[in-house]
Amino acid sequence: MIPFHSNSRQHADLSEALAQALHGVDLKDDSAFAHQLEKFEQKLADYCQVESVVSVASGSDALVLALRALNLPPGSEVITCDFGFYATAASIIMADLIPVFVDTAPGRMTMDLDAVRAAISPRTAAIVPVHLFGEAVAMPALQKLASEHSLAIVEDVAQALGATSNGQLVGSFGVAAAVSFNWSKHLSSFSNGGAILTNDAGLANRLRSLRSYGNEGTFHHTALGINSKLNPFEAALLSVKLPYLDGWIGRRREVADRYTSILSQAPQIITPSMVEPGAHVFHKYTIRIPDRDGLRKYLKDSSVSTLVCYPHLLHTQPAFAGRGLRAESFDHASRLVDEVLSLPVYPELMDTEIDFIGEAVLAHVRTGH
Ligand SMILES: *Cc1c(COP(=O)(O)O)cnc(C)c1O
Repeated sequence: MIPFHSNSRQHADLSEALAQALHGVDLKDDSAFAHQLEKFEQKLADYCQVESVVSVASGSDALVLALRALNLPPGSEVITCDFGFYATAASIIMADLIPVFVDTAPGRMTMDLDAVRAAISPRTAAIVPVHLFGEAVAMPALQKLASEHSLAIVEDVAQALGATSNGQLVGSFGVAAAVSFNWSKHLSSFSNGGAILTNDAGLANRLRSLRSYGNEGTFHHTALGINSKLNPFEAALLSVKLPYLDGWIGRRREVADRYTSILSQAPQIITPSMVEPGAHVFHKYTIRIPDRDGLRKYLKDSSVSTLVCYPHLLHTQPAFAGRGLRAESFDHASRLVDEVLSLPVYPELMDTEIDFIGEAVLAHVRTGH
């Protein structure tokens, strides 16, 4: 079986460096853990070209805390895309804000900026663009729209670390950005981790308090904080991995190109495109095909694991029912949930495997079974 996702190949390649990093954490030094976190936060800030990084326990916590640190009026509306992952919408609700969903852009899998403009109301306070599957939302245009209406932007960079919009790294456009290191992300920890990126020093300070029980000083709690820390051993391992990230992204793009050149022989398939150089890091390689479920079954029978990212629109999730969220019918996004299929993509995927998968897709399309 070709796995949909694999960290084991990456970890086999890096096993010595990772083991050394763990040994390098001095258990006899009480400050060693704090040191690992600071070191990693600094490295990530340098990579992302932002002033401050506040590491936390998960990407979900990063989103919730980033939104809460903005001190928006409770019940304010936050615009985000209806096609995406649960955590984005859930975090908005958990921050006492109301998600307002918009459609995807025609021919794309990320939010439609015209729809964002149309969704702005007097109660709108923020926009959460999700750079879904590793593809950057057009940030200069979104920034212009947000500033015209004095709206905050919190970027969801969970799937797009290293992607650029107009040559600038995503995560550096918004007032804050949430990053995830969960095991399935392209900069992965062994379990979970996350971080908030920001250029606002005051916001960074509020976030450091919010991740630590809302402390200001000792046993003096000035904000309704939680306890959300990145595990220092994960930080040590992530510090080993970070220098490889750009190389891994380069290989992901090669994998994507190889898939696309094979799959372009099948007119029924819409392959992901790169709108501008650097815009896509291919966290996922997601195609569209009318007979999605048939193809998925055929690939499974051919020993290829795939995943439907995502089979439901966020506004239809039972978890969000009964909250009076505005539900609309979205022409583009509602077709995506029926047609999308994500194929395996990771830097260690071999050309022979890509060719095998690509040929299997073509075989299914040609024969129709
Ligand atoms: C993974 C993910 C999150 C949540 O990150 P966790 O670290 O798993 O909590 C949020 N948004 C998007 C788009 C994601 O893919």
